[in-house]
Order: sequence, then C-alpha cells, then structure tokens
Amino acid sequence: MAEETIFSKIIRREIPSDIVFQDDKVTAFRDISPQAPIHILIIPNKLIPTINHIEESDEALLGHMVVVAAKIAKQEGIDESGYRLIMNCNKDAGQEVFHIHMHLLGGKNLGRLIG
Ligand code: 5GP
Repeated sequence: MAEETIFSKIIRREIPSDIVFQDDKVTAFRDISPQAPIHILIIPNKLIPTINHIEESDEALLGHMVVVAAKIAKQEGIDESGYRLIMNCNKDAGQEVFHIHMHLLGGKNLGRLIG
C-alpha cells in the first residue's frame, strides 16, 4: 500500500489550496511554487505513486486527466496561445511528490523543450 502524500490532504480539502476543478476522478489546483504565470497540477483522486504504477485499468482515468487539462486551459484563456503538459517520473525527472500529477504550464512563451 503506497503512502499518502500532501496531495491526498488537498483532495480531501484538509489543507488549503486553490482548487480550480474537482470531480469524482480528479482534482486540479494551483502549484504552490509556480514556474509560469499559470501553473496548475491535475491529479487523480486515487493514489498512484508514479507513472510506473499506472495499470491498464487506469487508462480512462489518465485520458480524463488530459481532457480536464484542456478544459482548464480554456477556462484560463490559454488554449489558443498554448500551454505545456508535463509528468515527471522518479529521480532523474525530479519527481518530488509521489502521487502522480500532470503540470499544466502556460501564460507565457515557454520556449522549446526538445529539439
Ligand atoms: P514534481 O517535481 O513532483 O513533478 O512536482 C511537484 C509539484 O508540487 C511542485 O511543482 C511543487 O511546487 C508542488 N507542490 C508541492 N507541495 C505542494 C503543496 O502543498 N501545495 C501545492 N499547491 N503544490 C505543491
């Protein structure tokens, strides 16, 4: 059984956070240390520690996270200007919180990441 992180407390609203979207499957809230004018984390309500722990039965959930990210981008007015979705896995990617999360970054030109 994986250990809960601070994100479980955010989902249950036991600690304060700026939640921008929540349904029965996912929660999205503003990052406490934003790396862009808009920096929102989209997380599953169920605890999955890393991308390596995603199971085939989670496919719809992961798809829902992307659908929600696109809805939030529209809500934030950055759907046309553009944005980036990032998921980090383990040490070399700098994963700090072991409850999978998708970073939604935008509100400025983010530059090219690859190539
Ligand atoms: P990682 O490096 O694991 O991909 O990203 C973790 C992210 O969670 C970081 O961007 C960090 O700023 C954010 N974060 C960590 N603790 C909290 C918290 O208590 N509240 C919020 N809103 N964001 C957090």
